[in-house]
Amino acid sequence: MTRLAGHGLRHEGAAFSMPKVRARDAAGPGMALCECGTYSPLIKNRAQRQQWHKDHKDDIRRGGNGIVWEGM
Ligand SMILES: [Zn+2]
Repeated sequence: MTRLAGHGLRHEGAAFSMPKVRARDAAGPGMALCECGTYSPLIKNRAQRQQWHKDHKDDIRRGGNGIVWEGM
């Protein structure tokens, strides 16, 4: 997975809920949080959150706002 400055995936894709990480349920349903402050939609597992983050960075590289919803 390639890195993009200012866009690290917080807690390596652990599940976040507002307003903070749910540490006990890191692999289960929740939102991904990027270092830039962008949240993903509710995603069912860590692997899909990591995929969301990849899509998020790809969107930033293309000049988008990093808000990606497709495939959820
Ligand atoms: Zn970001």
